[in-house]
Amino acid sequence: MNEQTVQQPASGLARPEVLTPEERLARLPLRDDLRGQHPYGAPQLDVPIMLNVNENTYGVPADVQDAIAEAVREAVAGLNRYPDREFTELREALAEYLGHGLSAEQLWAANGSNEVLQQLLQAFGGPGRSALGFPPTYSMYPLLAAGTGTAYLKGMRADDYALDAESAARQVRELAPNLVFLCSPNNPTGTALGLDVVDAVYEAGEASQAIVIVDEAYAEFAQLGTESALTLLPGRPRLVVTRTMSKAFALAGARLGYLAAAPEVIDALRLVRLPYHLSAVTQATALAALRHRASLMSEVEEIKHQRDRIVKELSRLGLKPAASDSNFVFFTGLRDPRRIWRGLLDAGILVRDVGIPGSLRVTAGTELETSAFLTRLEELLAVES
Ligand SMILES: *Cc1c(COP(=O)(O)O)cnc(C)c1O
Repeated sequence: MNEQTVQQPASGLARPEVLTPEERLARLPLRDDLRGQHPYGAPQLDVPIMLNVNENTYGVPADVQDAIAEAVREAVAGLNRYPDREFTELREALAEYLGHGLSAEQLWAANGSNEVLQQLLQAFGGPGRSALGFPPTYSMYPLLAAGTGTAYLKGMRADDYALDAESAARQVRELAPNLVFLCSPNNPTGTALGLDVVDAVYEAGEASQAIVIVDEAYAEFAQLGTESALTLLPGRPRLVVTRTMSKAFALAGARLGYLAAAPEVIDALRLVRLPYHLSAVTQATALAALRHRASLMSEVEEIKHQRDRIVKELSRLGLKPAASDSNFVFFTGLRDPRRIWRGLLDAGILVRDVGIPGSLRVTAGTELETSAFLTRLEELLAVES
């Protein structure tokens, strides 16, 4: 039940009043620009096969569990002290992991790449400023913009959701945003952007001095030959590449996201971050994870294999899957996606309805999970035709 009974102060006419959550919220002195907004809300349902938020469905391997537990155990002894505010050791380890000649002074981290994005908006967006995204894209961009009082501008994609360099650059020139979000590979559609798009957007953003953010949350799942925007960082002080441990690293629960950019971008983020925002436990966890990344990411190739299998099988079923550089597949061609979503859920399989007509999005899981999804989907489609 969503309704609650609110008791009125005692008076002759006291009567219980039934309010919806919206009505209760309406009574608070909430910021006007937050009225009518909806919180991030991917369903968190406890079902056997969860393929809806693009997690790595393989658990953390036992040897990595032990290493993290040991590292955290050591950190616990020092929890009476604030953690290293600059998380220097972690930044060094992240720079070493990314390669591309990056150094620790070009790395920054926070509690999930969502917090990294929020800090970027706090520093470079805000009231009177704007951020440009290209929907359909990551649903958190407008929410993070709203939370920081930044206007969110919606750019256009082609009918097949592609974004080419010329179109993207023209829109940046016309809208003159303070920040641009380029999600590559794009969530929910799964396809990576060519670096020509990133370069063209960066050049077009010169006039408005736009901070160009390339969100590479799924970079480790890229197809052979797909290049990272990290290669473009030299000589581009307004370019930022964000990454996360929530996907390939199988550590969504640890909350560790990070970015690579020019050192002066990181100086700007120091102005808005909360003091000691990365706990000693988080730093220890992330450091242990990086030391044991070979084991932690040992299933990435298998996940890519299942991803490619999903694309092939969906085509065979007469659906239209988008090319994927990620660990998920977006597909269209469904007559009734709600019925399919429901039918899968009834079989204990949760996928994502991203609200785009005729489409659904599914995470590539283990071979068993992927097979269960494909088998059930085929059964459901047979009923449709
Ligand atoms: C999953 C995802 C993230 C990760 O967010 P975290 O806060 O690091 O868990 C970031 N960007 C996109 C596009 C994503 O899909």
